[in-house]
Amino acid sequence: MKTSSRLKSYYREFKFLAKGVISTEHPILAHIIPMRRCNLACGYCNEYDDVSKPVPTEEMFRRIDKLAELGNTAIIISGGEPLMHPELEKLIARIRQHGMLAAMITNGYLLTQERIQALNAAGLEYMQISIDNINPDDISKKSLKVLDKKLVWLSELADFKVNINSVVGGGIKSPQDALTIGKRAVELGLSSSIGIIHDGLGTLTPLQGVERDVYFQMKNLGKKGHTRVNGFQKNLVDGKPNNWRCRAGARYLYICEDGLVHYCSQQRGYPGKPLAEYTREDIKREYDTKKKCASYCTIACVHQVGAFDNWRKPQTLASKGMVKSTSVKAIKNFYQIERSYSSFD
Ligand code: SF4
Ligand code: SF4
Repeated sequence: MKTSSRLKSYYREFKFLAKGVISTEHPILAHIIPMRRCNLACGYCNEYDDVSKPVPTEEMFRRIDKLAELGNTAIIISGGEPLMHPELEKLIARIRQHGMLAAMITNGYLLTQERIQALNAAGLEYMQISIDNINPDDISKKSLKVLDKKLVWLSELADFKVNINSVVGGGIKSPQDALTIGKRAVELGLSSSIGIIHDGLGTLTPLQGVERDVYFQMKNLGKKGHTRVNGFQKNLVDGKPNNWRCRAGARYLYICEDGLVHYCSQQRGYPGKPLAEYTREDIKREYDTKKKCASYCTIACVHQVGAFDNWRKPQTLASKGMVKSTSVKAIKNFYQIERSYSSFD
């Protein structure tokens, strides 16, 4: 990333933070899905299909315009696989025309040198690529072996920030691969992060054994300033709840391919209202609504957005959202067994 682009990006991020702190009456971050279809089929994923068509560009423009009208400050484009949308670059340019930050999450398979240049020209500011293992297996094909060449191109050509996210949990065969992937990202001058795979409701399955060791080694990589490890994850790894206020539906919006607003990818159906009809009253209501699933939630971007408001007024409206009673029980059992792990930092 060039120095001038980096400085501009710092300035825009500062404006983004300042706007988020000053007022609570607008969304900070929205996730949009222009393409539910994916070119891969990861075993743990519930966010894709293999049939749907791209959402028409004009309809995506209407959604982006509406988010700008609500005062939203940043948009993440994901899917499915957003690079499968034939006019992805036009969507990014539309986001930038409104002055919003433009980011995307991709599996990276469809990146070419030309496509990276096109994303530069459109004004993309941040890309996250998820890589789960070194060699493809039955659970995940998002492999360093396949994607390494694309990472090299990104390190040479991208004017936007690139973060490589690897995950632990969920039965991935070689959890130690996450560490190799993190180190390779750092070697190429990219940033890295680690996520914990959630269950179908966005809550966690606690980490044990090798997965747990890998998580803490990634954390040490983070102490050298290269890997972003989210503070909330430490409690989850230990099977402990987080005490925070999920402001999904207000400060964070997940807009599905049908144009409905949901709390997040894992709590679809709440509130399930069309974005076109979403108002500041909806934002105020959801700001004050407790989320049942918050204690063991693993959704990093909503936790990050929550940091803007955790210190502000408590949520007073009745809880919404779903939790699996079995997963809460499993976490409680895990915590009983693991209490003696106090030597971990
Ligand atoms: S690449 Fe991403 S969206 Fe596609 S199946 Fe895998 S996890 Fe799901
Ligand atoms: S706490 Fe919020 S972000 Fe997390 S699963 Fe529930 S609704 Fe989604």
